Amino acid sequence: MPSREHYKDEAFVVRTHDFGEADRIVVLLTRDHGLVRAVAKGVRRTKSRFGSRIQRFVQLSMLLYPGRNLALIAEADTIAYFGAGIIEDYNRYTAGCAALDCAAAVVGVAEGEAEIFDEVAQFFQYLQHAADPVLLLDALLLRLMRHAGWAPSLFDCANCGDPGPHCAFAPAAGGAVCSQCRPVGSMKPAPAVLRLMWHMANRDLATIAPTASQLGEVFPGGSTALCAEAHRLTRAHLQYHLERNFVSLAMLSED
Ligand SMILES: [Zn+2]
Repeated sequence: MPSREHYKDEAFVVRTHDFGEADRIVVLLTRDHGLVRAVAKGVRRTKSRFGSRIQRFVQLSMLLYPGRNLALIAEADTIAYFGAGIIEDYNRYTAGCAALDCAAAVVGVAEGEAEIFDEVAQFFQYLQHAADPVLLLDALLLRLMRHAGWAPSLFDCANCGDPGPHCAFAPAAGGAVCSQCRPVGSMKPAPAVLRLMWHMANRDLATIAPTASQLGEVFPGGSTALCAEAHRLTRAHLQYHLERNFVSLAMLSED
């Protein structure tokens, strides 16, 4: 056993890679230590004590020993298993994997590791039964962006603060923008789209699908078209800020 002080933490598995004869390298989203790369020794042997638990969509309680490159997983117990409704449904499964990848990307640059972890746990709870996994994922992405400090403004103008609702949206400007501040090439969402996104970012996850149905009743193309627009804006905003952030992180590490 390594001599450095061990610690307990809660974790979700983000991804795993087989390593050596029977080991597995595991990337963990932890509640108190952010992203942790760890080795789970002997877990590919059938006799492994906890190998079967080290998989996605399981909330785990772990005992970890820090190492120079990799932590060592000494114990792993199940707190909650969310896989049942997720792993047999392709759309829920891909949404769940995307949620883990995005949380892992954001946790290193964001404030509030524990809050991010709790957002993901709550998301999995609802994802198990979600009729529209993409809508639920977009809601989580908006919340993760808030922790990272890149949340789009969804009501006030992101540039001058003029109260909305506004009819233009530009990721580079910070979200919703007024007609004075609107950059060339801004997206032009209907007010209902930004209203839905505001709900997605701020309200209980259980209320999002009903809100989308309600707002969709008076939206051309119905709630399907409304959610598709919210999806387009959310992903455009996320992509712009993730790319910008990773470029700046890459430049920092070159110093
Ligand atoms: Zn403005």
